[in-house]
Amino acid sequence: MSDEPTRPSEALQTRERGPAIGHVCEHAGCGKDAGWGFARPRQPSRWFCFEHRGEGERFL
Ligand SMILES: [Zn+2]
Repeated sequence: MSDEPTRPSEALQTRERGPAIGHVCEHAGCGKDAGWGFARPRQPSRWFCFEHRGEGERFL
């Protein structure tokens, strides 16, 4: 397995941050990076993190 990264921790960090995360979870007091977006036509998008993504489903 010579193709494995020499510094696995660095590779993991890059993957968790993602390339284009610009939203913050809307759950009160959370403030984590929000990877789940919920949107309806003519409504602003709502964004939640993995932990609180269930709350976004009420906006669909
Ligand atoms: Zn959250």
